[in-house]
Amino acid sequence: MTPALQQEIFKAALRCLLGLLLGSLFGYWLLGLGLGLMLYLVMHLRYLAALRKWFGAPKQVELPEPGGIWGEVFESLLTLQKRNRKRKKRLAAIVSEFQASTEALPDGAVVLGERGEIVWFNTAGRTLLGLRSPQDFGQRVANLVRHPTFTAYYADGDYSSEVEAPSPINTAVLLSYRIIPYGNGQRLLVVRDISDLRRLDTIRRDFVANASHELRTPLTVLRGYLDMMSADADGPLQPWTGPIHEMRAQAQRMEALIADLLKLARLEADGQQARLDVLDVPAMLLRIVEDAKAVSKGQHRFETEIAPDVQLLGRDVEIQSLFTNLIANACQYTPTGGIIRVRWWGDAEGAHYSVADTGIGISEKDLPRLTERFYRVDVGRSRASGGTGLGLSIVKHALERHEARLKIESEVGVGSTFTCHFPLHRVQHVVAAPPPVAQS
Ligand code: ADP
Repeated sequence: MTPALQQEIFKAALRCLLGLLLGSLFGYWLLGLGLGLMLYLVMHLRYLAALRKWFGAPKQVELPEPGGIWGEVFESLLTLQKRNRKRKKRLAAIVSEFQASTEALPDGAVVLGERGEIVWFNTAGRTLLGLRSPQDFGQRVANLVRHPTFTAYYADGDYSSEVEAPSPINTAVLLSYRIIPYGNGQRLLVVRDISDLRRLDTIRRDFVANASHELRTPLTVLRGYLDMMSADADGPLQPWTGPIHEMRAQAQRMEALIADLLKLARLEADGQQARLDVLDVPAMLLRIVEDAKAVSKGQHRFETEIAPDVQLLGRDVEIQSLFTNLIANACQYTPTGGIIRVRWWGDAEGAHYSVADTGIGISEKDLPRLTERFYRVDVGRSRASGGTGLGLSIVKHALERHEARLKIESEVGVGSTFTCHFPLHRVQHVVAAPPPVAQS
């Protein structure tokens, strides 16, 4: 029991006693007691009324300072009010700081409610998406950004990546859209202008493609003359046989490089998904393995496990190029006597192509960088064997165009396995031809 409460009980008892005594003096002790209690009650009602008034307008009305239990209650209420005011001020400062910083962001930020309605957006959101304040608050974002790519991304619910689509107010501006779910069913839409980035990308790609194209003709001329000169090995050029041979090899390397650069440029330029031609992969693979055997000249043992009834929807040149690349790499980086195992199979997840070798393997630190252009684990070795360092980049791009993934597993000195996973909608199963019926 607090001292104020003890005091209050004492006061109540004293009033009752006084009333009782005064009442007894006049022979009405009960009336005296009742009067004492009533006076005590009136005092409480007065403070209750003051409290009620204060609750109605706490800023305008001042609370009395009566001391005792009421004084304590009023004091606590005022402290609570002060604390709340401070907290409110702090929160307001945080909110305005947050708004100021998001306003300064060059990226558009749009806060979406549970039903996808726009709750808030910053200035960049306004300029990039053409949102209007306050008309667009409460509007569903899917009704305002109607590009099919964004619509599909928004409806999909898988926001682990971002998508690119033009701005709804200016088709010349390319935007990257990313949705970040947070809190209780809320989402943050972040929009970035990537027009310059894409423009630079196109300039770089066109430059590489044009330069490679321009280099092709002079190189063909040089190569032609070098071929002629090396054919004349017994003539007056005999002392130059060595250098001519070296120049021919280098010219060949440059031709391979240019061919790979052009292939890459073509793959990058056709950014969208590859066409859906039905490819007879089993037949294609048997042909590629036969060619690889011829190149390997018996240095490697080939094992194949090819499902005859699984076909792929894709682009012939690209698939052939990526299949060949992986087998050629396996041959290149597997010493004589090694085994190269080529598999093609289908299951509930899609179709899969894998090339496993018992070669030199790749260390863990190199694995993530293998598909970068010109990345080689051992530059000298790759060059010596005619590698351009672009093979796996071409594989990666060709796979991306077929919505497929590349998985690389490897152990140094043991071997490597490159597996390509194609999605189910790119797979077609055919009924394998029945064995010929014996004629009687
Ligand atoms: P390159 O023309 O040099 O073979 P790639 O892009 O095809 O270029 O391969 C990149 C690098 O990856 C190669 O230089 C090589 O070091 C490594 N690599 C690729 N395939 C294999 C493999 N089957 N075994 C070991 N290393 C490999």
